[in-house]
Order: sequence, then structure tokens, then C-alpha cells
Amino acid sequence: MPPVPLQFLQSAQRVADLPDSEREVAVVGRSNVGKSSLINAFANRTNLARVSKTPGRTQLINIFQVSPGVTVVDLPGYGYAKVPSRITKDWGPMIEGYLLERECLQMVMVLVDGEIGPTKLDVQMLEWLRDNEIPHQVVATKSDKVKSNKKPARKKELAAGCMLDPGDVVWVSAAKNINIDRLQDLIRSWLSP
Ligand code: GDP
Repeated sequence: MPPVPLQFLQSAQRVADLPDSEREVAVVGRSNVGKSSLINAFANRTNLARVSKTPGRTQLINIFQVSPGVTVVDLPGYGYAKVPSRITKDWGPMIEGYLLERECLQMVMVLVDGEIGPTKLDVQMLEWLRDNEIPHQVVATKSDKVKSNKKPARKKELAAGCMLDPGDVVWVSAAKNINIDRLQDLIRSWLSP
């Protein structure tokens, strides 16, 4: 199976500026969780989504096209300590509006750092998605950073922190190309009619 071919479509400052779509998957996570690296891995090319941007600068929504009317949306990262509050205070309402109102939204991928586990903001995000019955999938990033002998315990711990069973979490490494194909299959299934 070929990888999910992601083609950069546009950046938007506001949800209202997003183009229409028929089926969409959104990706959320705190800044530095590895979101850009993962999106680059989906596309099998580097520098599609910019890696390690200046914190707080890129509060843009990036939209990628899989095929006409089939899209992946990279939402701005949350919870970066150095971002001025005037920027973070707009994040909540903007993203919440998108998640509640985007009719074509099929799935929200919530990225959690596999090495450090869910942060308070990750847990809040998951509770909010659950409360609002928005379909979501937890993806643990940077799995290569967890030593093999610590993996079973880490998997249990991270899942429990997200109030999930270990089998509910997909572990990936963009750096070492671990489980990227599995996630691509999942994305393909969420995006198929
Ligand atoms: P973003 O802010 O969520 O878009 O995160 P980035 O993709 O910019 O990654 C943040 C940092 O984590 C960078 O230094 C990446 O090189 C590193 N990183 C991202 N993914 C992985 C991974 O799978 N393994 C390892 N070891 N590091 C990663």
C-alpha cells in the first residue's frame, strides 16, 4: 500500500478561512510533541510541515490534501510555556469551534509524547473530546525514546494516564519509522467513505 500522500494545500489563521472538505482528519497535540515530524513521515518527505519552529510564531492551521475533498488538518500546538498569553487565549475558542463545528471531521488524532506521557493539557483535551463525543485516537509519539525493557510498563502507564487500555493507543516513531504504516492505514480507513 502506498503511504498517505499529503500535499500541502494552505495555511489559515482562522477556522473560517479553511477550504471546504468532505472528509477530514485533524491532528492536535502540545507544542514539541512531534506533530510536524509525524506529518512529514506520513508524506514520506521532509520539511512539509516545518519542524521545530519558533515557539508561538506558527499559530496557523495547516491544511493538507490527500485527494480532492479529503484533507488532514494540522491544528496549532497547545500549551507552550513561552507563548504569550495573548496567543494562547485565542487557541481554546478557535480550536473548540473547529472541533465542534467542522462537519466533515471524521477523527481527531491526539498526540501524546511517548517519553513523558500525557500532560495536564493533554488530559484536559481528551476529557473535552470525550464529553463532546468527538471521535479521537491517542497516538503516542517518539516511541524510539523509550527503552525496550521499559516499554511494557510505559505503555500501561501512558494509557492509564489517558484513561485508556494499552491496546487503544498507537505508538509511533517518526524518527525511526516505527508503526507509521499502521497509522497511515488507520488514516486511510478514517478518510474512506
Ligand atoms: P511539533 O512542535 O509538535 O511540531 O514537534 P516537532 O515535530 O517539531 O518535534 C519536536 C522535537 O521532537 C524535535 O526536536 C524533533 O526532532 C523531535 N522528534 C519528533 N519526533 C520524534 C521521534 O519520533 N523520535 C525522536 N527521538 N524525536 C522526535
